[in-house]
Amino acid sequence: MIPRKATRSLMVGDVPVGGGAPVSVQSMTTTKTADVDATLAQVYALAGAGADIVRITCNDTEAAQALAEIVPRSPVPIIADIHFQYRLALAALEAGVHGLRLNPGNIRNESHIKTVAREAKDRGVPIRVGVNAGSLDRDLLAKHGSASPDALVESALIEVGYLEDVGFGDIKISVKHSNVPAMVESYRLLSEKVDYPLHLGVTEAGPPPGGLIKSVAGIATLLLEGIGDTIRFSLTADPVEEARAGRSLLEYLGLRERKGLDLIACPSCGRAEVDVIEVASQAQAALEREGLPIQVAVMGCVVNGPGEAREADIGIAAGRGKGHLFIKGQVVRVVSEDEMVEALVDEARRLVAEGVEARLAAADAEAAEIAAATSRQLVEIQGDANRAAERRARVAEVAENG
Ligand code: SF4
Repeated sequence: MIPRKATRSLMVGDVPVGGGAPVSVQSMTTTKTADVDATLAQVYALAGAGADIVRITCNDTEAAQALAEIVPRSPVPIIADIHFQYRLALAALEAGVHGLRLNPGNIRNESHIKTVAREAKDRGVPIRVGVNAGSLDRDLLAKHGSASPDALVESALIEVGYLEDVGFGDIKISVKHSNVPAMVESYRLLSEKVDYPLHLGVTEAGPPPGGLIKSVAGIATLLLEGIGDTIRFSLTADPVEEARAGRSLLEYLGLRERKGLDLIACPSCGRAEVDVIEVASQAQAALEREGLPIQVAVMGCVVNGPGEAREADIGIAAGRGKGHLFIKGQVVRVVSEDEMVEALVDEARRLVAEGVEARLAAADAEAAEIAAATSRQLVEIQGDANRAAERRARVAEVAENG
């Protein structure tokens, strides 16, 4: 487990953030908030894809009114995103939102911020101080010369000071930058100065794959250092994709329990006995439909596949027109190549229902032997890629003769 930096705890609706709670996934709707049905449909889609909390823009009175209808019908807590108009923050609170996000770069009046904080405090609603490099307070921009990590952190701390002045402590902070190293540095700096929970994100990351790579690079770097309590991928894409990506990242880092499929596949090489890319994509599509929370390996050859993927719950390795189905590295069944994806899905279902021990006990008696024989044949045909015999002879020669 990754040791996490100790932070204070707060609640966004029924989702705990900080204080050692599981790192949560956030996403944001792209619908017009005033369109209640379309927005709710997207909130449900985001929750289904792994979002624990959803943010919705509250950019006018109609949006605030819509929030009053959306919040009670939402499956997850709702945060209102506020820019410029502090009155819309008050309206969103009246609508019953579970959290607010304020941008210090565009709500700059101290007394307005404090008015919102007092109201949020009375209602037990947390506030995220959401600093963004692209909309940094212009005085700080002039002072620092650029949206540097120091400038972002200073902006956050000024705003936090306003909230603390009125005894408000349910604070989350983000200091998002579109430049990955600057984003990482900003959060590191902030994390040294405060123990409020941090919301991580690379802002304006762009469309996938670049946006995904940037987001993973920034967010994962910090999470692996124990920094970060809640995350958002800001992709120029269907937000369902960002919710799914955020959830997957946390699962891959071992920060959240696996809810879905983790498909691993070898990169393929000259030894491959099958089109690994094609088989992997067929297996992924079929297994995702099943929604099984397991790690599945698709390996191009039986010579190295079962051994290399022995950590996977279940896998399939090709060889000489056959598919070798293995559980925890042990071959349990051999099927013809054209049945391999179907057999993999069938065994995956049984594995989840019956458990590893039961499925190993039900292994075909000859499966391991057939796999070993196929592996030997392939080594004979293709040669030993690891050149084990040659190496052993050389080692013996050195040991005996120096
Ligand atoms: S499992 Fe086989 S085909 Fe895949 S990369 Fe390894 S050696 Fe190559």
